[in-house]
This record gives sequence, structure tokens and C-alpha cells, in this order.
Amino acid sequence: LRDRKLIVQIIPFENRRQILVTHDATESERIERMRRDFIANASHELRTPLTVINGFLEIALSQPDLNVQTRMAHLRLMTEQGRRMQNLVEDMLTLTRLESIEYPLRPERVPMRPLLEQILQETQALSGGRHTVTLEADGPDIKGSTDELRSAFGNLASNAVRYTPDGGSIRLVWRVVEGKPEFAVVDNGIGIGPEHLSRLTERFYRVDKSRSRETQGTGLGLAIVKHVLLRHGATLAIASVPDKGSTFAARFPAASIYSQEG
Ligand code: ADP
Repeated sequence: LRDRKLIVQIIPFENRRQILVTHDATESERIERMRRDFIANASHELRTPLTVINGFLEIALSQPDLNVQTRMAHLRLMTEQGRRMQNLVEDMLTLTRLESIEYPLRPERVPMRPLLEQILQETQALSGGRHTVTLEADGPDIKGSTDELRSAFGNLASNAVRYTPDGGSIRLVWRVVEGKPEFAVVDNGIGIGPEHLSRLTERFYRVDKSRSRETQGTGLGLAIVKHVLLRHGATLAIASVPDKGSTFAARFPAASIYSQEG
């Protein structure tokens, strides 16, 4: 009981007896703390780009005669920061929606082959020829939300691009392992130290903040992946060795395999 916070109430009862009511507030305090941290982190993430944009706007107002090249450079920097804020707000809205009980999962048949081919194309486009990206897709269609899985798988694939140096390779694999469908993204990139693995799916947790930001990261990608998988009864397995690479595998229950009978 040492780490728990108990609220104890003594309520008078008949015949001079009393009732002792205890309530464990540990869990509600933990949730409250998480909510506070989330708001603090999100505000901090939004403040930095806002400061940059406001700074350039002030320059634009106070120096109306700036030459065109400088002005264009400032506009480009402002656009970049604006995009960063937009990505962040969109990821926050996605997370909120995924957690909301008002949006229960409505499973449909997910056409895996076209979905994975689309993700392959998008991953290759993001890499811009800097990596070898391949797809092996032997697995079946499953029941789930195509949109949510597109976003989860796309997040894992784009992370592989962002955390793998040029010249590296990225494999997208959809197969059945011991009766269970599995989507794995295997990269030979920078890898992750063992001390970080258990915290990676926390909101805004990053191993290297500057690398994440440089590559347009919001710090919410894996939190979104985790929630999408949770809604599908799936789990995320992460294996990684620093400087060797990482494997992120989404494992689905056998029952999620789509069959004609439903
Ligand atoms: P971010 O937007 O920062 O990439 P994510 O939630 O997607 O946020 O990932 C959290 C952190 O996990 C990243 O900041 C990065 O440190 C680490 N990470 C995620 N994917 C990989 C990967 N494939 N290789 C190495 N590190 C990764």
C-alpha cells in the first residue's frame, strides 16, 4: 500500500457505530498527471514554431524594404513552422478521436494488398531514392479500419525512412506467423537503446528531439500506432539494436483474418 494514495472517509452510522469508506485515488491521480503533462508538452511544442513565425512577422512589419531574397527565405521558414504546427494539431486530433468511445471501431474488410502497395509508394516517395524500400506481402485480408491501419502502418514506415541514414534498406513485410497476421517494418537504421524501448509509445517521448524535429516528427506517431493497434486487438513488438536497426511488428489476433463467412 506504500505507493498508493487512499482517501478514507468515516461516516457515522446508527448506534454510535461508524462506517469506514476507502477510495483508491492512485489511478485517478495518475490520469490527471498524464493529462497535465500532455497539455504542458503540447503547449511547449506549439510555442516554438509560433515564436519563430511571430519573429519573422515583426521583421516584415518593421523592415518593409527588405530585399526579395531575404523576404522569400523568411516566408519559407514561416511556412515550415506553420506546417509543423499543422502536423501537430492533426496528430493531436487523431489521438483524441482514437481514444474517444464515441468512435468505436467499425470493422470492414481491409484490402491489404492495395493498402500495402500504396504505403510502399508513399514510403518510396518520402525516401526520394535515398533508401531501398521493398514489400513482401503474403498475408490475408483482415477485418478492421482501412483508414486507421493506413495511418498506423504509414507511421511505422515513415519512421523507418526518418531514422535510417541514406543508403539503408527498409523492408515492409505482411505475413502470417503462427496463425497470426503480422505487419513488420524492418530497417537497418540508427536503432534505439534498450533503455528507451518501453517508453517509445508515450506521447512526445523521443530518443533524440532534434532529429525528430528536423525530420518533421511530432512525437505522437507511435502513440497513434499504439492506439490504432489497441482498437484492433493487436500489439506492437519492438526489437532494436543501436547502429544496427529496428524492427517494429504489429501482431494481429488470428480471429482478425477475413473470411467469406465473416
Ligand atoms: P517522432 O515524431 O519523434 O518520430 P514517434 O512517436 O513516431 O515520434 O517516435 C518516437 C521516437 O521513437 C522517435 O523520436 C525516435 O527517437 C524513435 N523511433 C521511432 N521509430 C524509429 C526507428 N525506426 N528507428 C529508430 N528510432 C525510432
